[in-house]
Amino acid sequence: MVSRHVGGSTNPQTRLADVDAKHVAADLDHVIVTADEIAAKVTEMAEQIDADYAGRDVLLVGVLNGAVMVMSDLSRAMRIHLTMDWMAVSSYGAGTKSSGVVRILKDLTTDVLDKHVLIVEDIVDTGLTLSYLADNLRGRGAATVEIAAMFRKPAALTTDVDVKYIGFDIPNDFVVGYGLDFNGHYRNLRDVAVLGKHMYQ
Ligand code: 5GP
Repeated sequence: MVSRHVGGSTNPQTRLADVDAKHVAADLDHVIVTADEIAAKVTEMAEQIDADYAGRDVLLVGVLNGAVMVMSDLSRAMRIHLTMDWMAVSSYGAGTKSSGVVRILKDLTTDVLDKHVLIVEDIVDTGLTLSYLADNLRGRGAATVEIAAMFRKPAALTTDVDVKYIGFDIPNDFVVGYGLDFNGHYRNLRDVAVLGKHMYQ
């Protein structure tokens, strides 16, 4: 994982021009993970998950809205039988700090009793959201509950949330792209970048 200045990529797949270069580049500090690096990691994670769940049906539970991209890519990279469902929980509001309050805004439509559940999440920061969700789904009688997250921040390492499949460990900066937003924007960036501090300070 290499830090890059925004706009430094020559790969057409990873150009921030995919969104609105002039606008977006000024909002961001630097790219930390490119679209190509994410794609390679998704393949690696999918192979591992396929191997671990061989012979079992898995229910992927995506956490809205941030996990939309990783769910979409990961599920299509997987080769085993799977079903998908979604939950929405409150996490960050309009700022960049975790509120610590986890509230279910949209529940599953699937009964998880005796199912092998794999929670798919964009990023784990404090781990509050995921430890709440994992406990909640275990409480409903799921056979197994594991977690896959594309990004993990240092704080997550000090909590007891067990993320079985992890894409990238990243520094403790507020990042956007690949599903991750700031005030609803930047989710459609293909790269993941650190948001410029001038955007929220
Ligand atoms: P946790 O409960 O682990 O503290 O927070 C998890 C949620 O916080 C993520 O699903 C995501 O919505 C949000 N979050 C944490 N760090 C970041 C970040 O750097 N950027 C964005 N956009 N969201 C973040």
